[in-house]
Amino acid sequence: MHVKKNDTVVILSGNDRGKRGRVLKVFPDKNRVIIEGVRFIKRHTRPNPKNQAGGILEKEAPINASNVMVICSKCGEPARTKHREVTEEGRTRHIRACVRCGEVF
Ligand SMILES: [Zn+2]
Repeated sequence: MHVKKNDTVVILSGNDRGKRGRVLKVFPDKNRVIIEGVRFIKRHTRPNPKNQAGGILEKEAPINASNVMVICSKCGEPARTKHREVTEEGRTRHIRACVRCGEVF
C-alpha cells in the first residue's frame, strides 16, 4: 500500500475528484481506503440495540487506493512517492519519500 492511516490524500477520480482528506482506515487485502469526508453513502438501518432509532446513517465508503495520491506534508502538493532503498548494516529497507522534495513520510 502506498497510503497509510492518517496520511492526507487527494482524490484522483470520481465525483470527489480533487477533494482532500485524511485516511481513516486502510484495507490492504482489498487495496481500499476510507477517506474522511469523502464518498458519503447513506445507509438505511433498522433499529437495533446499538442504534435504537434506526433510520438513515451517513458513512464514508471505502474507495480504491489507486484513486488517491498522498499529499506531501512538506511541500503540500500531491506527490508521487518513491521507495528508496537504504542500506543499513548491510540490509536494504524500503521507505516512502516525496519525489519532489525528498521528504520521507
Ligand atoms: Zn514534498
